[in-house]
Amino acid sequence: MNGKLYIVATPIGNLEDMTLRAIRILKEVDLIAAEDTRNTLKLLNYFEIKKPLVSYHRHNEDIKKDNIIQKLKEGKNIAIVSDAGTPGISDPGQVIVKEAINENIEVIPIPGACAAINALICSGLDTKEFTFFGFLPLNKKLRKEKLEEIENETKTIIIYEAPHKLENTLRDLKEFLNERKVVIARELTKIHEEFIRGSIDEIIDRAKYLKGEIIILIEGAHVQKKENYLNSISLEDHYKYYQNQGLNKKDIIKKIAKDREVSKNEIYIKFIEKK
Ligand code: SAM
Repeated sequence: MNGKLYIVATPIGNLEDMTLRAIRILKEVDLIAAEDTRNTLKLLNYFEIKKPLVSYHRHNEDIKKDNIIQKLKEGKNIAIVSDAGTPGISDPGQVIVKEAINENIEVIPIPGACAAINALICSGLDTKEFTFFGFLPLNKKLRKEKLEEIENETKTIIIYEAPHKLENTLRDLKEFLNERKVVIARELTKIHEEFIRGSIDEIIDRAKYLKGEIIILIEGAHVQKKENYLNSISLEDHYKYYQNQGLNKKDIIKKIAKDREVSKNEIYIKFIEKK
């Protein structure tokens, strides 16, 4: 019988974020395939887990996958871990998962920290829909194409970046985006955890001094365009805008209040005053 392939998330800084299930699975599997075995060994030592480790990183993913699949077919249970966070998210993982599925091997997620999701939930930006871009390409042509895609993206944008490239990336983004809300999520779950919110210009000034691990989040294109437009028209036109969408009075007032970031009561009173 085939063994099982576990995709195990590990902490992104704070070891307390290791889940009980992740510890148990790492103790139970026959083998752990790790992005950097020295790094993972520190984690295993901390949780007193003693297991054979093999290296499985971006540069040997194709070669190592055959070996791992072979062991799974021999009935061994194997866990994949990356240096930090969720494997497969800007980290090795997807190649082995695809191969395991092709070979009818069960793939089981062991959830835990993912930097992108934790940055998003505290960003203050729209969390309903978002697009994860990972690291932007370094190749000039591919980078320009990606920046154009970001320019037109209507959902919240999430980008991973290294701190020493942050200033340069913000300058590139500035060429393509008008004024948009930007959030830098830095050193999540660690002592110097910080969220910096502002316009690209405001953040560029601070970028060269920022150290540690960094994520850039940007509000989606439509949010800004719609909000700017609705806040620039009269209250009556704002009302008509939603009336034309078939909304009732109560819902229209609720939406106007949200767009203008004031209370529903304030909008209600303004309408009564105008009568
Ligand atoms: N697989 C990981 C995950 O689940 O988020 C991401 C690995 S990727 C190689 C590393 C990038 O993730 C960093 O350059 C940074 O953009 C982001 N990152 C990882 N840990 C972070 C942290 N504690 N705070 C902020 N960003 C972090």
